[in-house]
Amino acid sequence: MAQAVHTLDLNFQNRNDAIAAFLVPYSGGAVLVESGPGSTIEGLKASLAEHKMKVSDVTHVLLTHIHLDHAGAAGWLAQQGAEVYVHPRGAPHMIDPTKLIASATRIYQDRMHTLWGDFLAVPEDQLHIPEDGEKITIGDLEFTAYFTPGHAEHHIAYSFGDLVFTGDVGGVRMPSCEYVRLPLVPPELHLGKWQASIELLLEKNFKHVAPTHFSIFDNAEKHLLSALKAVETTSAWLEEIMPTEPSIDELGAKFTTWMYEQAKVNGVSEHDLKTYEIANPLHMSATGMARYWTKFRQTV
Ligand SMILES: [Zn+2]
Repeated sequence: MAQAVHTLDLNFQNRNDAIAAFLVPYSGGAVLVESGPGSTIEGLKASLAEHKMKVSDVTHVLLTHIHLDHAGAAGWLAQQGAEVYVHPRGAPHMIDPTKLIASATRIYQDRMHTLWGDFLAVPEDQLHIPEDGEKITIGDLEFTAYFTPGHAEHHIAYSFGDLVFTGDVGGVRMPSCEYVRLPLVPPELHLGKWQASIELLLEKNFKHVAPTHFSIFDNAEKHLLSALKAVETTSAWLEEIMPTEPSIDELGAKFTTWMYEQAKVNGVSEHDLKTYEIANPLHMSATGMARYWTKFRQTV
C-alpha cells in the first residue's frame, strides 16, 4: 500500500526534509495529507509537478491538525476547489482563523509572514469533520481517522492500508536517522494523552509510518516504540527538573543541552540536527513543557 503514497518535500525555508505533505493519487485526482504552510505553496506546486499533478487535481486534503506547518495552505487549497478534513476542535479555527493567526503572530512577530505565509479560511461547506474511528472514502481510496491527542488536543492520525500518517503524534525523524524527537509545543501538550495515542497506534500493527517531519518509514512498530520511549523519558526528565522550579530560560537551556546529548548519542549529523531544529524549534518546547507541568502535573 505504501508505494501508492508519495512524500512531497515542501522545501520549507529552502530546506529539504523539514516539512512534508503526502500525495495519494487516485482515479479522480489526488488526496493530500497535510497542506503545508501558506509559505510553501510554490514548493507544493513544484512537488506536485514532479508527479505530473497540478493543484487543481487535489480534490481532498486531510489535515492531522491545524498548526501552521501542517494546515496553513488548506484555505488556499480550498479556494482551488479542495475539500478539507479536520478534527472537530480544529474546525472553528479553519472557518475563522483570526484567533489562531493572532496567537501565532504573538509568538513569531515580524517573522510571521516570512515563515508561514497566509492562512486563509476554509469555507464551511468545504469542511468535513470526521468522528473518531470514522472511515473516509474518496474514490477507491479508504482512510480511517484516529483521534490522537497529546501533541495537540485536536490531532488526527489517518490510516491508509498498512500505513499511518502520524502528523506530529509520531514525533519528528529525519530520513536517514532512527532518532525520534518530540515536538513539545504549547498550549495543549499532554504527555499522558500522547502516550495513550501512541499505544493506540501500536495496537493497529501498521507496517509503515509517515510523520510529516519527515517522510515514510518501514518498521512502524520500531518507530512508534521510539516515540513512546521519548514520551516516557521526557516525563521522567520533567519529574527530575521541575521540582527545582527553573525559569523558562533555565528550562529551555537544560532541555536544549539534553536534546543535543541525545542527538549525539544517536549519531545525528550537524546537517540533520539543523533540520530537526527547523522542523521542531527547541525554544518552543520549554513553554510547552512548563505549561503542561503547571496545568496537569504540579501538585500544590
Ligand atoms: Zn504540530
